[in-house]
Amino acid sequence: MANIREIYQLGSPVIRSMAAKVEDVHSTQIQTLIDDMIVTCKDSKGVGIAAPQVNCSLAIVIIASEPSERYPSAPQMEPTALINPKIISHSPKMLKDWEGCLSLPGIRAQVPRYSEIEVAYTDRDGNKHHVIYSDFVARVFQHEYDHLIGKVFIDRVESTYDIVMEKEYQRILAQ
Ligand SMILES: [Zn+2]
Repeated sequence: MANIREIYQLGSPVIRSMAAKVEDVHSTQIQTLIDDMIVTCKDSKGVGIAAPQVNCSLAIVIIASEPSERYPSAPQMEPTALINPKIISHSPKMLKDWEGCLSLPGIRAQVPRYSEIEVAYTDRDGNKHHVIYSDFVARVFQHEYDHLIGKVFIDRVESTYDIVMEKEYQRILAQ
């Protein structure tokens, strides 16, 4: 059975570390980690999570887009594990939109991200995939991928004036 794991926050060295490549996708350790990441993400009402956020410095991200109160326009998607993901190419265009992060609770920011991104990854069964993500899912992927290289969303803002606290973000949304 999958277990909810503790989410590590900014300030923990693991959040600023480069994640290591996964060598054996089929190992029990990796399969259990993926199951635990999926339930941890769901429990926190997140749309994605990266292994470093649960203190495992390995190149695994989960994308779990679904419409919610926080992200009403998000597409419905089965939680998907992307192992050793690589960015192949991206659109020239970037779009700015709001992001939050389970490792930086209480903070929101408008972050520029590529509107379309081409990604190669290995799935949890060891199969290789090549996909193109756009809009919201492209944003989630870029946010989670950053966790694998020790970056967080506030590193990507154009200006610190684009950072707000959750309470004020809610006020902005309600306008
Ligand atoms: Zn995050």
